[in-house]
Amino acid sequence: MGCGKNVEVITIGNELLLGRTSDQHLAYLGELLSKHRVEIRRSVVVTDEAEAIRKEVLESWNQADIVLTTGGLGPTSDDCTREAVAQALGAELVRDEETVRRLERRFQRMNRRMTPNNLRQALKPEGAETIINAYGTAPGIWWERDGRILVMLPGPPEELHPMFENDVLPRLRDRGLLEEESPYVELRTVGIGESALEHTLQPLLAGYPGLTIAFRAQDAIVDCRLSSRNGKYTQEDLETLADECAAALGEDFVAFGCQMLSKIISEKLREREQVMAVAESCTGGLLASCFTDLPGASKTFAGGVVAYNNAAKVQLLGVPECLLNQHGAVSAEAAVAMATGAAERLSAEYALSITGFAGPGGGNPENPVGTIYLGLYTPQGVWSRKVNFQGSRATVKCRAVNAALDWLRRELRRPTPALARA
Ligand code: ATP
Ligand code: MG
Repeated sequence: MGCGKNVEVITIGNELLLGRTSDQHLAYLGELLSKHRVEIRRSVVVTDEAEAIRKEVLESWNQADIVLTTGGLGPTSDDCTREAVAQALGAELVRDEETVRRLERRFQRMNRRMTPNNLRQALKPEGAETIINAYGTAPGIWWERDGRILVMLPGPPEELHPMFENDVLPRLRDRGLLEEESPYVELRTVGIGESALEHTLQPLLAGYPGLTIAFRAQDAIVDCRLSSRNGKYTQEDLETLADECAAALGEDFVAFGCQMLSKIISEKLREREQVMAVAESCTGGLLASCFTDLPGASKTFAGGVVAYNNAAKVQLLGVPECLLNQHGAVSAEAAVAMATGAAERLSAEYALSITGFAGPGGGNPENPVGTIYLGLYTPQGVWSRKVNFQGSRATVKCRAVNAALDWLRRELRRPTPALARA
């Protein structure tokens, strides 16, 4: 381990042990810390019970240099991390007046009444510092004692992530506990699959012995991370290699880094000063959401229609009723008509459509569960494509969205749109 420090993580929350929420924190913290050569040596998940928290904190405090707890900092009585940690380490809880003022201002801004239990969130162990939470009410705690560090962070990932990156990591860096990140490059690919990706890159990677290679696959997107932990290769070496890999992958290469497919599409459309629209059935807005996730999306994303039943497809997208009766709503013809309807009604140069059986019910012998028809409308014409995905309803929806995005991404790679098509 880089800093030679012993880090332990205590993740707190009943919902994690009841299987209602899957723990994201360990993967997140592990990835960020290991980039700086700091390794987590132990991680436990415990319930919100004070006794369980006390026991684990004591154990970690006795053997680790840095103890990180997550969750249980909320205002209600079921959140008791603050009290349990203070008790475990024999400290008094004191009120932090600055936090009280910040809470008051926050409630005022939200036009909500602050109830007395919210003041519990302004408590901190004597001698500890507060970590400001810009996205929630529960502040975090940074506590240095006897040469060791205890950090308490709230459970919601959207609060924990910025606090960890903007506050905790810089504090650890200031104390010389982080090593500079090893040189690395990341390549995002889509539609090629993990094993085919490795097979394609193998001849190039073989020229760089000692490289650390990691693949990560999710819903048809496969990322490849190449890093040099031993300092054998420089950032420049890795960038040269990444360029070679990108060239070898051709159209399957998406971008350097983990960029969203929708972002790449938006950038291409912005260069061309064109806009797009979407029409979705089984994905229920997921495709549109990929675009509205991007700040400034309105420049390239006109909008989308969620047309779930046949009547909506007819009314909102102008899909002819007789087409649906003849071919069904899950058909190539429906996908084409939906994409055309979206493009025409929203005056867009490009449109994507998705219609299919996401499961677990539905489907027929010709189009079993998991069958999706995608439609792509472009200034040169409109096409459909049939795909089939295995997995849960959520997986089929995600894969359908990625397949649609990838189709348009590939289309927009062409410098001048091909007029003739096979
Ligand atoms: P608050 O109650 O004010 O939101 P808190 O610190 O008490 O803050 P928790 O109650 O522990 O936070 O968690 C709130 C929510 O955050 C949980 O319902 C869950 O959705 C999410 N969450 C908590 N811990 C994790 C985790 N380890 N991984 C993923 N999500 C988590
Ligand atoms: Mg909780």
